[in-house]
Amino acid sequence: MRETNQLIEFIRDIFHTHDFIPLHEPSFSGHEKAYVLDTIESTFVSSVGAYVGQFEEQLSTYTGSDFTIATMNGTAALHTALLLAGVRQNDIVITQALTFVATCNAIHYCGAEPAFIDVARESLGMCPEALSQFLEEYAILDDHGDCLLKETRQKISACLPMHTFGHPVDLDELESVCQRWHLPLVEDAAESLGSLYKGQHTGTRGLVGVLSFNGNKIMTTGGGGAVLTQREELFNQGKHLTTTAKVPHPFEYVHDQVGYNYRLPNLNAALGVAQLEQLDEFIIKKRHLASAYAAFCESEGIEFLQEPHYARSNYWLNAMICSSMDERNQVLEVTNKQGVMTRPIWKLACDLQPYSQALRGDLSMSRWLERRVVNLPSSATAYE
Ligand SMILES: *Cc1c(COP(=O)(O)O)cnc(C)c1O
Repeated sequence: MRETNQLIEFIRDIFHTHDFIPLHEPSFSGHEKAYVLDTIESTFVSSVGAYVGQFEEQLSTYTGSDFTIATMNGTAALHTALLLAGVRQNDIVITQALTFVATCNAIHYCGAEPAFIDVARESLGMCPEALSQFLEEYAILDDHGDCLLKETRQKISACLPMHTFGHPVDLDELESVCQRWHLPLVEDAAESLGSLYKGQHTGTRGLVGVLSFNGNKIMTTGGGGAVLTQREELFNQGKHLTTTAKVPHPFEYVHDQVGYNYRLPNLNAALGVAQLEQLDEFIIKKRHLASAYAAFCESEGIEFLQEPHYARSNYWLNAMICSSMDERNQVLEVTNKQGVMTRPIWKLACDLQPYSQALRGDLSMSRWLERRVVNLPSSATAYE
């Protein structure tokens, strides 16, 4: 109790307010209004307009990705990414149990099923040893080199790790397991824009990667997302799929497959261009906030989640690890009652009704963390 009150005092001090403190709020102190107004005055607010292309180009430059496709949200980007990786009806896609539900929903949209793997203590993202053990136990490579589930002969068609709270998973280790089992790696980098794995931007290592610009992410377009890839043919396919699969023609409506209307509107892209101009500033502020939390937690004997040793994290959401579930519950109750917004980590996806029948490996670390992790207010606006 004493610690929780001190935590609240510390957070109020940093955010300089006696009012409600949200978990994460956006910051619009750049050219947001000017660019958005520009789209309205030009009448190009929807799927055609100069900001979309500009936003995509700037995202490619920022992340070091060869190709970028902006989409209407991160979930649509994930759905597109999995289709590009070759995920089809009745396949299995391996992901982590500790993730936001969108990761699993995108798998389901492809008609595939998730299989849940444990996470690593250091990153809170997919654990390479757990992945390897799961595949040894449940998978085989057939004569064509396809990875199959032993029991049902279903194809395991992709591996989809997620960079939890912005902390990169161990991509070298995961990639080496994926290569051994001929699995394309798809990165859910929705939370990790600006985070680097050994100097490389998250989302650019896998065959395809995904970003999100939802209102609670490190930067926002209102709603939005992006698909990143280094393969030109996947970029072309992705662009086609996300624009209703329309075949270019001066006036005829020809669509050569079932496509999606997933393109990011120009209005949202304008907001994105303005936000991207400030992203480095946001990251500096968030890393500053994280080090303040780390110092406080150290002085109080509380465990604070630090970036993995191989990474530079954007520290999108700060997290402390309580010593027990009782302590976690107490922190959540007291802080929220006093207007300081904190949240537990997600319930494990395999315990959610739609995914309760899914295949899973040993999930002991995920379960241990589920009972202890609390997210703390993390807005960059703390230092405005
Ligand atoms: C935010 C998020 C997404 C995508 O969310 P959208 O709201 O659709 O942009 C996907 N996966 C994870 C892990 C996320 O945190």
